[in-house]
Amino acid sequence: MRYPRHSVRIARYAVQLFFLILTVYVGWRFSQFVLHFEVPGNPFVPRPSSVDAFLPIGGFMAFKYFILTGIVDPVHPAGFILFVAITGVSLLLWRGFCGWICPVGTVSQYTWMAGEKIFGRTFTVPKGVDAGLRSLKYILLSFFLFIIGVAMAPSMMVLFFITDYYKAVDVRMMKFFTEMSIVSFWVILALFVLSFLYKNFWCRYLCPYGALLGLLGRFSPVSVRRDNEACVHCGACTRHCPTLIDVEASETVTSAECFGCLTCVSRCPSKGALDVHVRKGQKARRISPFLFPLLLVGFFYLVIGIGVATGKWHSKVPYEEYQRILPEVKKEYDSR
Ligand code: SF4
Ligand code: SF4
Repeated sequence: MRYPRHSVRIARYAVQLFFLILTVYVGWRFSQFVLHFEVPGNPFVPRPSSVDAFLPIGGFMAFKYFILTGIVDPVHPAGFILFVAITGVSLLLWRGFCGWICPVGTVSQYTWMAGEKIFGRTFTVPKGVDAGLRSLKYILLSFFLFIIGVAMAPSMMVLFFITDYYKAVDVRMMKFFTEMSIVSFWVILALFVLSFLYKNFWCRYLCPYGALLGLLGRFSPVSVRRDNEACVHCGACTRHCPTLIDVEASETVTSAECFGCLTCVSRCPSKGALDVHVRKGQKARRISPFLFPLLLVGFFYLVIGIGVATGKWHSKVPYEEYQRILPEVKKEYDSR
């Protein structure tokens, strides 16, 4: 059955909006949790564990530690669970996390869309420069893979996990944004301006997590495929692809830049020309584009559910520890 052309895009906007609102809510709850320890009399709000999503490097570290020791980091266990959920989703459903769930990707998308409305267009980086800039995110990824994946021994990690710095690393991350230094302010402003002018500037050129997910996504059995017989060569897929992939010239989209947004599929006017496929041995089977986000969100929450059910979601840092550490962090930031 042919689905209404725009409904895939509407489904994506709905999923993105849900995760964006959730992120804002989690951020607000976390700020209330921190305020309790900083301002006397502020009521206690439990720490939302999903705030660990903002600690992808910690999640990677905890993942390596788990692989080598079988132990889940007790300080930020949700960081580990989310790392497994996000990388697992990418292995199964290519870079769909970036295109549907990641709030940074969503903000990035709405920023260039706003820029497009204001300037009537987005700008493109010359091809040679674009290729060079795209390698930046792989250079950053290699740096983290080396530092954490190779150089850091589990004995070093365990020493790091018990430091006050690591226990409050989520608070420091929050303060990076709420008590920004002048340098950080200008860097973020520059990124924001560039994101207005260029499509997905952060995701395309700088995000090491996106680089990792793009590489993992290459193992995914799911992809967008074009049927040349049904294609009427209108160019709509290529024109609307936010990651500038020439979909019209591809039989199967294999680029690591593709984040599975399915904009191309939703823009295609010709029935059967462009669809989501799942590889099955030598063959590929067409699936509904609505099944893709269902599987994506379903698998993501399945892993989180396993984390919650096995007691590996909430931090084991006791209240008294926060009571000791957080006022110290506040003093440190106040004295800057
Ligand atoms: S190829 Fe299609 S699914 Fe991939 S990023 Fe472009 S529009 Fe989205
Ligand atoms: S949008 Fe569909 S019909 Fe048009 S070029 Fe792409 S695959 Fe072909």
